[in-house]
Amino acid sequence: MAVERTLSIIKPDATRRDLTGKVNTKFEDGGLRIVAQKRVRLTTAQAEAFYGAHKERPFFRSLVDFMTSGPVVVQVLEGEGAIQKNRDIMGATNPANAAPGTIRKEFAESIEANSAHGSDSPEAAAAEIAFFFAATEIVP
Ligand code: ADP
Ligand code: MG
Repeated sequence: MAVERTLSIIKPDATRRDLTGKVNTKFEDGGLRIVAQKRVRLTTAQAEAFYGAHKERPFFRSLVDFMTSGPVVVQVLEGEGAIQKNRDIMGATNPANAAPGTIRKEFAESIEANSAHGSDSPEAAAAEIAFFFAATEIVP
């Protein structure tokens, strides 16, 4: 398995409860290195662009409102098979279906306020990392 990078976002429900450190511990304990990280407040335009693939979904407007409701921590995670590994550490989208020990099982408030985002493919990871970070901001 090759070393990969993936884009992670600690969502507003988690930053509001000061869970950044606990989420990061899950990543680091799971073999992912945080090679870039910044805390930002997304604008509506940024959130709409980032979730553009979901534009036609019924929850799109609510998701954009949620993602702009407070600070997020955007980060690049690096490691062996990082894209799938991050998805495994996050758990299922709906916390009701997430496995024990996952971020979403332990921390998520709802299917929408589910504490973390992770890229779902190599193509998405490349695009999402470039959305938030310049190459010079990523320090392996
Ligand atoms: P994932 O984040 O697990 O890749 P999706 O890409 O399908 O999940 O959805 C993006 C985000 O949209 C989810 O993480 C969640 O915040 C929100 N979301 C997904 N499905 C729903 C839903 N049925 N109702 C409300 N929000 C949802
Ligand atoms: Mg997704």
